[in-house]
Amino acid sequence: MNYKQLLNRTNLKATPQRLRLLEILGERGHMTIDAIYQTLKVEAPMLSLSTVYNNLATLCEKQIIREVSFAGASQVYELSRGEHAHLICKHCGEILDIAADYNAIKKTLILPAGTVLLEGDLIFSGACAKCAKAIEYVEVA
Ligand SMILES: [Zn+2]
Ligand SMILES: [Zn+2]
Repeated sequence: MNYKQLLNRTNLKATPQRLRLLEILGERGHMTIDAIYQTLKVEAPMLSLSTVYNNLATLCEKQIIREVSFAGASQVYELSRGEHAHLICKHCGEILDIAADYNAIKKTLILPAGTVLLEGDLIFSGACAKCAKAIEYVEVA
């Protein structure tokens, strides 16, 4: 499905800016609002931050994109692409998606009695392939 169909399916108007926003997120993966704004602004100098903010909020509401918060890092946006975990490179800050079966993981959690689990994100830190190679990371077994 292309981005236009995706927007139409949720009854959102496929404005050029929304389409561009989704394209950019699709290409670059996880981006802060500032990075999105700076990228869009190159193509549309009159663009205001509040317009970008509003578009992001609307797209989040329709679950076309989602926000991910990382401790100690700015909140980022990504296209909604099913459940996955994240790996943050400690060296360059790159955020990578990791395929993860949340249902299987949930079954291994030992919850305090009486508690109910709703949702959550798994975030790991480590080194991306490039940094791991550059610093000759030795994996601790
Ligand atoms: Zn890295
Ligand atoms: Zn992700």
